[in-house]
Amino acid sequence: MPIRINNIKIPVNSDMRVEEAVIKKTGISSAGDVRIIKKSVDARKKSELKFVYSVIIDPDCNQEKLAAKIGADAVLIKKQDRTPFIFGNKKLTSRPVIAGFGPAGIFAAYTLARNGYKPFVIERGGDVESRDIAVKKFWNGGGLDPENNVQFGEGGAGTFSDGKLTTRINDARCEAVLETFAAFGAPEEITYQAKPHIGTDKLKTVVAEMRKEIISLGGEIRFFSKLEDIRITERLEAVKINGQWQDCSVLVLAIGHSARDTFEMLFKKGIKMEPKPFSVGFRVEHKQEMIDRAMYGDFAGHPKLSHADYALSYRENGRGVYSFCMCPGGSVVAAASEEGGVVTNGMSEYARDKENANSAIVVSVTPDDFGDGALDGVKFQREIEKRAFNMAGKNYKAPCRYLNEFLGTGKGGNTNPSYLPGVEFTDISRIYPGFINNMLKTGFAEFDKKIKGFAKGGVLTGPETRTSSPVCIRRNDELVSASANGIYPCGEGAGYAGGIMSAAVDGIKIAEKIMSVYAPI
Ligand SMILES: Cc1cc2nc3c(=O)[nH]c(=O)nc-3n(C[C@H](O)[C@H](O)[C@H](O)COP(=O)(O)OP(=O)(O)OC[C@H]3O[C@@H](n4cnc5c(N)ncnc54)[C@H](O)[C@@H]3O)c2cc1C
Repeated sequence: MPIRINNIKIPVNSDMRVEEAVIKKTGISSAGDVRIIKKSVDARKKSELKFVYSVIIDPDCNQEKLAAKIGADAVLIKKQDRTPFIFGNKKLTSRPVIAGFGPAGIFAAYTLARNGYKPFVIERGGDVESRDIAVKKFWNGGGLDPENNVQFGEGGAGTFSDGKLTTRINDARCEAVLETFAAFGAPEEITYQAKPHIGTDKLKTVVAEMRKEIISLGGEIRFFSKLEDIRITERLEAVKINGQWQDCSVLVLAIGHSARDTFEMLFKKGIKMEPKPFSVGFRVEHKQEMIDRAMYGDFAGHPKLSHADYALSYRENGRGVYSFCMCPGGSVVAAASEEGGVVTNGMSEYARDKENANSAIVVSVTPDDFGDGALDGVKFQREIEKRAFNMAGKNYKAPCRYLNEFLGTGKGGNTNPSYLPGVEFTDISRIYPGFINNMLKTGFAEFDKKIKGFAKGGVLTGPETRTSSPVCIRRNDELVSASANGIYPCGEGAGYAGGIMSAAVDGIKIAEKIMSVYAPI
């Protein structure tokens, strides 16, 4: 019976191999195959940074006795009997349609295709190749394509990202998502790193490979194809795609947090939805070197250590200010999807080798702040993005300011903004209502206590408005829309995920629900 062993510690500046550390910890003469299942950095004591591993071994000895000897750090892995999946027997009158090919849509399609459901995927944006061209053109000042951009297109919002695969959900399907990404070309280490990331450069390839696999399994994927309307009688009957109606009894709505026109269409069609809290703020950039020094001390720059990240949060009077989507060695990107609006987000490549570290410092907002109408959150985001667009020259440049000046603690800064197509230095506090600016200032003061120098020298670019979906499309325990049988609200846009991992997991969940009701085609 294999044994999982936790807390195997190796100092960063030691040449000890994991196998040696296992033998040292367990006292056995040979560790045999050692499978690393978790690797993290313990940087709490700056004088002696350590890598901490969890491994699985299957030594040729009395495992129970060994596990008992090791104590709390050893877990015997008992064989799990997998309960066979029970497929439904209801006949599908048409292929399941999946609107949106982001992580949620991709994993819903992949799961359905592998089980013989021949899903029909529609994606309003282009494939990853054409999208890359459209996004680079926009970043170089060549104008926004409102249908093919950082939010819309193959791979969804996460394609031009750091590809961080961290999540707070505790779902066994997470392992399947990581293994699937690794099977389609992501670095194998994502399956065991405590903070796995793929990087935008590798993510594009992985997504394209998954597309090919879904097609080879009988799925179909149509790009530049938008869900424009739905027809409901007792239940879903048909969908309208690029002006054409087609019969449809099962629709997965995996449309992401920026599909505002589609939210408006669904709302008009009486699909039950409500406003949902999210957060807004600015991207802050610091020299990555400063962050490495703050997090690793004298180990900063050690060849075995990748650039340091951070996670910061503070709450006051029921409102939170926190760091979101931190990108070490990355850049701030133009993430707009609507004409006349400026939006920021962050991205890194797999190497994370850029000069700056960035994250969004954001403040939580709720319907109490922006209204309790279903689409009031969308309206609130839109107004902020438009204000920023107008402030920075109406050309998708972004408003920007040195942190010292925003905080009123000094002039200038030592960090160059990385946002393309460029920034306009201006009084960015005019973008947000006072309560948000005040909470941001409180946050920076608090964060400076945790990371010395965090409130100095950096630069702010914004606005960061698309932190999660401003709506929740209601679904029942069968994961079906509360308003129409056959519609499955899915992923981040519907309000059931936040991030690549949880969106992918929600896609699998939805596919399993469909497969438990309907028989394969
Ligand atoms: C720049 C950036 C960086 C990010 N970095 C990270 C990160 O490092 N780690 C992380 O976990 N998360 C990150 N995120 C968030 C993450 O990308 C999302 O949480 C995740 O992609 C949500 O997945 P989804 O499939 O639910 O929706 P999305 O990925 O948003 O996909 C929805 C898809 O639906 C399509 N669509 C919308 N409307 C229609 C329609 N009417 N018809 C047809 N298709 C439609 C869109 O074009 C889009 O491709 C980042 C986001 C951005 C923008």
